[in-house]
Amino acid sequence: MAGFVLALDQGTTSSRALLIDQEGAIQSVGQFEFPQSFPKPGWVEHDPFEIWDSQLRAARTALESAGVGAEAIVSIGITNQRETTVVWDRATGEPIYPAIVWQSRQSSGVCDELRGRGLEDEIRARTGLLIDAYFSGTKIRFILDAVEGAQARAEAGELCFGTIDTWLIYKLTKGRVFATEPSNASRTLLYNIHEGAWDDFLIEALGVPRSMLPEVRDSSGDFGEADAEWLGASIPIAGVAGDQQSALFGQGCTTPGRAKNTYGTGCFLLMNTGHEAPQSESGLITTVAWRRDGVQEYALEGSIFVAGSAVQWLRDGLGIFEHASESEAIAKSVPNSDGVYVVPAFVGLGAPYWDEKARGTIVGLTRGTTHAHITRATLESIAFQTRDVMDAMAKDSGISPQVLHVDGGACENDFLMQFQADILGIAVERPAVLEATAMGAAKLAGFSVDFWEEGGALKSEAGEATTFEPTMPRDEREKLYRGWRRAVERSRSWAEEDAAE
Ligand code: ADP
Repeated sequence: MAGFVLALDQGTTSSRALLIDQEGAIQSVGQFEFPQSFPKPGWVEHDPFEIWDSQLRAARTALESAGVGAEAIVSIGITNQRETTVVWDRATGEPIYPAIVWQSRQSSGVCDELRGRGLEDEIRARTGLLIDAYFSGTKIRFILDAVEGAQARAEAGELCFGTIDTWLIYKLTKGRVFATEPSNASRTLLYNIHEGAWDDFLIEALGVPRSMLPEVRDSSGDFGEADAEWLGASIPIAGVAGDQQSALFGQGCTTPGRAKNTYGTGCFLLMNTGHEAPQSESGLITTVAWRRDGVQEYALEGSIFVAGSAVQWLRDGLGIFEHASESEAIAKSVPNSDGVYVVPAFVGLGAPYWDEKARGTIVGLTRGTTHAHITRATLESIAFQTRDVMDAMAKDSGISPQVLHVDGGACENDFLMQFQADILGIAVERPAVLEATAMGAAKLAGFSVDFWEEGGALKSEAGEATTFEPTMPRDEREKLYRGWRRAVERSRSWAEEDAAE
């Protein structure tokens, strides 16, 4: 059967579309950036129509540049920036407020209020999450408070809430389908991950009427048809997942204990825990990986705030090099970091520390320290932070992965990947094609229409993977890691003094 799957990858700064053929090879890519809006310090918003418009243009570009007509597309898969929140009018389809982006801190007041009501433990038990402005429920609450009359309209059933998957499905189907799936729903603070349903207690706690919430369907299944007006033929939407879970699926981490780390601006480490949803005691969150054939699978997740962006700091803040890729040769120009540790806690520390008062720290400087040691120690910090999260995962789940699958821009750095393998003491595997996120959505959409057979190798996955095996002696590894833990201690609570003054 000839044909293609169209994967839509709606990210924080750009919308992409990838056309994938029957063998799993990427035929073409369309990509458009769209504007970011920062109305106040710490606030980040998008225009929902710019998201939709850029996504549609990306899809059209992918088809045009491959010379493929819409009738050859067997299904559409969607993967999306998670937690970003849109509220729109059910009758007109007009958003009542800009999309509030996952990074935005504007709903932190809602979080203080929820914590003040003593809801943290209950929310954690039901959702697997922490109370944080990151998650959609606090953003919905913010919008319903910020827009005059919105709460009453919501209660009258006039408003819809969606994460970006839901918004795109709604636009693609011209409002015929109002749906999401569990990998996105589990990021809202409104979804009970154990029951696999919207939760009345949470609905009540956040004051978000149930009528606002989309129907939750299988991640691989039927989300209606994209209208023929958009691409020239009506096409089934058959797979949907949030970006990190999609990457987990795309990397083939579909059995318990398989883990992937995406090295971008920050790092997102997810480990499949199968049908178990362990509650973390170590600062991780529990999330739904996907739901297929009515069965949910789960993952533990740890987010590291600063990873690749520490390399940008070396480049732009310290001017050590011009291109991020140069960091590799500079790091390798010295045999070790000579006792120097860089803790890039520029915005506090995420998992597993959750210390918003931590600040960036360099320790172990001597008269012999050079820019090369600092560069090396900065790259090493990415690997040490990943070890922190991997250790927490092993503790929470009782599972120690034997391989770490990697993707994201900074995983092209061979020095970093080798050091990562050394400091974890397990193999690090980098696929030949670094499009795990889009491939995850494509596979969810391709499996559900029987375009691909599960278990068969796709071309984009079949290329030579690079495996980095650990070579560092155990004593040395543990000594270096102990040094890291001491350095982290030095960075903690640093900003408290400022607050006290
Ligand atoms: P995002 O999707 O978060 O924007 P990407 O996956 O595109 O991130 O990765 C870009 C990040 O990776 C940047 O922060 C950059 O500094 C870092 N980076 C890119 N190439 C390298 C490299 N060869 N070595 C180290 N860091 C790199």
